[in-house]
Amino acid sequence: MRKKLVAGNWKMHGSLADNAALLAAIKPALAGIEAAVCVPFPYLAQVQAALAGSSLSWGAQNLSEQAKGAFTGEVSSAMLLDFGCTYVIVGHSERRSLYGESDELVAKKYLAAQAAGLTPILCVGESLDERESGVTEQVVARQLDAVIGMAGVASLAKAVVAYEPVWAIGTGKTASPEQAQAVHAFIRGKIATLDAGVAEGLTIQYGGSVKAANAAELMAQPDIDGGLIGGASLIADEFVAICRAAAQ
Ligand code: PEP
Repeated sequence: MRKKLVAGNWKMHGSLADNAALLAAIKPALAGIEAAVCVPFPYLAQVQAALAGSSLSWGAQNLSEQAKGAFTGEVSSAMLLDFGCTYVIVGHSERRSLYGESDELVAKKYLAAQAAGLTPILCVGESLDERESGVTEQVVARQLDAVIGMAGVASLAKAVVAYEPVWAIGTGKTASPEQAQAVHAFIRGKIATLDAGVAEGLTIQYGGSVKAANAAELMAQPDIDGGLIGGASLIADEFVAICRAAAQ
């Protein structure tokens, strides 16, 4: 069976005190359930100390495509490993649109993550304009092809893909379970044309305004294998309920 994975994306939220309270609430409530939190760089040590030995993993929201050197302000894959990270988000739509990350740069970051033994959570998804113009599949295919072209389809055996329609992120507008399932099936089908085994085993998360109230019907779709959760990952009860819905 494919692995189900819910990962929280805290974005640029949190403080030592708020994080401590959130982690203290979710850790016992999720005992035995595999889930993850992707946190701001300065809090990796705190999260590592709080979650070590639990069923929860942690990771970052970005990394440098460079291994080391004179790259002021950047954080390398090796640094993430120093703090016990398992996952790193690459290609989140906020990085693509606000920080100009191209498909090529995202693919380089994906490679850098895997080369270090981190599992990249590769985000793909279309904007509202693109959906309304009927090019959702072309956009998602282009984003996937950039990574497959550079890293090869076999690399997806050690990655997670997150389908995140940009119009659903932080907007309160969730893709319907049918809309999400259709794109997830497209992603799996596209990868299956290259490697059926990799496609079958690939965890494909849905992200975009997932909440406790809509998680169960999204997670019940055959090609949705968990979620990448923004806002709701900062609310303990919401995050716990979403993780439990995925684990069922
Ligand atoms: C995200 O940032 O990856 C995300 C899905 O955000 P939200 O859940 O807040 O829409």
